[in-house]
Amino acid sequence: MDENPQLHSRRTLNLRFDIPISKTQEFWEALKKGKLVSTKCMKCGNVSFPPQADCPKCMGGEFEWVDLGTDATLVTFTHVRVTPASFAANGPYTIAIAELESGLKALAWLEGAEQQSVKPGMKLKVAARDGGEGNPYYVFVPA
Ligand SMILES: [Zn+2]
Repeated sequence: MDENPQLHSRRTLNLRFDIPISKTQEFWEALKKGKLVSTKCMKCGNVSFPPQADCPKCMGGEFEWVDLGTDATLVTFTHVRVTPASFAANGPYTIAIAELESGLKALAWLEGAEQQSVKPGMKLKVAARDGGEGNPYYVFVPA
């Protein structure tokens, strides 16, 4: 294509490598199937969530994907009653931090629970949602 690449095109290429979209593809593909997976460092065994291209513990760059399961336990939460303008259509919502089976913690919206019934320690499930345009995301729902 470009026989005489300019600095500009090399910069673009570098940026693509800096943003590890390809390395997190597996996460999004699994999520579409309702599975929560993340990265396990091949060097030190550290499991990260959300997925990390480089191990935060040893900076290793080799990893494998592990299934984190979908069982979780509510650790803490915030009921948001005055919603930001961008979420106005959603009404009040709950943001939760829950501990996964592996002990890792994840942050997500909590759906399908009456606010009065939400208590730390309650059993949750991770569920995939379709954000449209092929952009899945995950939420917690009561188990
Ligand atoms: Zn590591």
